Parts: sequence; C-alpha cells; structure tokens
Amino acid sequence: MLRADKTHKTRKTQRCASVKACRHILAIEGMSRDAIVALLDKAQSYVGGDSGKRRRLSVLEGYSVINLFFENSTRTRTSFEMAAKRLGANVVNMSVATSSIKKGETLLDTAATLNAMDTDVLVVRHPCSGAVVLLAEKMTCPVINGGDGAHEHPTQALIDALTIRSRKGRLSGLKVVICGDVKHSRVARSNIHLLNTMQAEVHIVAPYTLVPSGIDELGVRVHHDMHTGLRDADVIMMLRIQKERIHGAYVSSPREYYHFFGLDRKKFAVAKDDAVIMHPGPMDRGVEIDSELADDIDRSLIHQQVEVGVAVRMACLQTVMES
Ligand code: ASP
Repeated sequence: MLRADKTHKTRKTQRCASVKACRHILAIEGMSRDAIVALLDKAQSYVGGDSGKRRRLSVLEGYSVINLFFENSTRTRTSFEMAAKRLGANVVNMSVATSSIKKGETLLDTAATLNAMDTDVLVVRHPCSGAVVLLAEKMTCPVINGGDGAHEHPTQALIDALTIRSRKGRLSGLKVVICGDVKHSRVARSNIHLLNTMQAEVHIVAPYTLVPSGIDELGVRVHHDMHTGLRDADVIMMLRIQKERIHGAYVSSPREYYHFFGLDRKKFAVAKDDAVIMHPGPMDRGVEIDSELADDIDRSLIHQQVEVGVAVRMACLQTVMES
C-alpha cells in the first residue's frame, strides 16, 4: 500500500531524472538511463511466473486511475485498465464520445473537474502533440502519456525495450532499424530516444516523404532503401502508415509501398540470421509487412510485445504513485 498523503501533488511537471523523480511519465526524451532501467526491471518483475501476473495485488488498493482517451485504442487502454486492476486500483474509463468534452469543455476544464474528483493517476491519450504535457501541468495528480499526436508514446517504447532485452539480453550495441512512416509516428520518436539513451545503433528506413524534418538532430542513420537499411540488423521495427495524421498523398499506392518498403522474406534475408521483427500494432498486413512473416513465431516478437504491455504499465503506475 502506498502512502495516503498527497502532499507531493503540487510539484511541477518534470522529467524522470531518476526513477524516484518520475512524478509523471510524459516522454522518453529527457528520461535518464537509470530511470529507464529501473522501469524495465520493475516491469520484468511483473512478467509471468508466480510474481503476481494473475493475482490481484494491493499496491494501489484504494486509489483511482482514470483512463481518458481522446483517440481510439485497443491495446493501450485495455492494458492500462488491466494493469491498474492487477495493482488493486479502481479504474474509470472516460469515453470522450459521451463526456462533456463533446459539449465543448476545454482540456483545462476537464483537468479542473478531474482534480476536484481527487483522481490519483490519470492516463491520457490525445490526438494533439503536447496536449498531455499541458494537462499534466494543470493536474494535481501524476499523469501518464498514453500517446499524444505524433509526439511520444513512452509506454510503447518501454514495452519494445523490455521485449528486445528479454530476447537479446541487452539493448546496447544492437542495430535496430525502424521502418515506415517515421514522420507521423509517436512510437518511432519514443523508441529513438530510448534506444539512443541505451546506446543501441538506431537506423530508419522510410520514403523521403515519410522522414520527419529535423531527423539529423535525433541521432539516427537514415536510409531510403530497405536492402541497405536492413543489412545486418538485429531488430526490425515496422510501422503502420498513420493515415489518421496524413492529409495529402505521401505514398503513391499501398501496393507500390509494399513493393519498396513492405517487409517480406527477401528483404528480411539481409538482416542477421537471428534478427527479430517487431510492430506496435495495429498492423496493416500486406502493406508494411507480409502477413506470414508477421506470424512467424521464430522471428516475430509482435505477440510478446502485447504480452509485456500489462507488466510495463503496472511498473509505470506504481512508479508515478511512489515518486
Ligand atoms: N498503437 C500505436 C500508437 O498508438 C501505433 C499505431 O497506431 O500505429 O501510436
């Protein structure tokens, strides 16, 4: 059981310099190596075995977690809900479609309402980059970013890191190639920051139109050809084309995109013999990835990514409550 007093609630939004200072989890950018490792270790303790994966724990007994999702979500919202419940919290899923937000309530009014209800942790997904940080500044409780626009999706990057670490035993020194719509992907941004902090070698492969501006500042190597980019890769992360954030024509046709940038056996063959494939979901099979390759249990870690999702979110919820 955590301490019941809420005197820590007035502290300002801050980065996770150490895991003890993770008041909110808003972004991977600025999160220290030690904080990342501590979160991964804590999540690992919740994966499988008899460490409470199925049992309901009392770590957040008596606390309330609100899931406030302004965008659709299957995996993220469900796994936050399961994580909070496994830690003993009460969970409320606020559906934007039925809330006052549809009636024109501003984000800040929503924050004031949730503050007044004495919420203990708020998990937020929002289509605008920066909206979650703004909300966190107004909230008196910890906030976890469940994905904000094309900015960051910190818990997904932690999931990906734990999945890689479990399979490869490390992150440092691995060649990780992120392929596809990097420009509109919050998953790519969070992963790039995390992998750089953990000293992996990060490459991206994307058509010219799907490379974000300012990519040079992110410390990655950029390729526009799968055969060059995937050579000797240890880990390949495939991304969906984020149609919901695209206005205009960035790719000629899904068929042509698959021909040049879809992962198939032939392109995969240039990676290392023990290379693995990842995808944050949802997948567009036959567009960015060959369906049979996505289901190849020897090579694909897509299923494992979903499996560790609950454990990572348990670790995040516990960490913000303890900070
Ligand atoms: N599920 C991930 C996200 O929320 C990736 C995606 O939607 O393609 O960003």
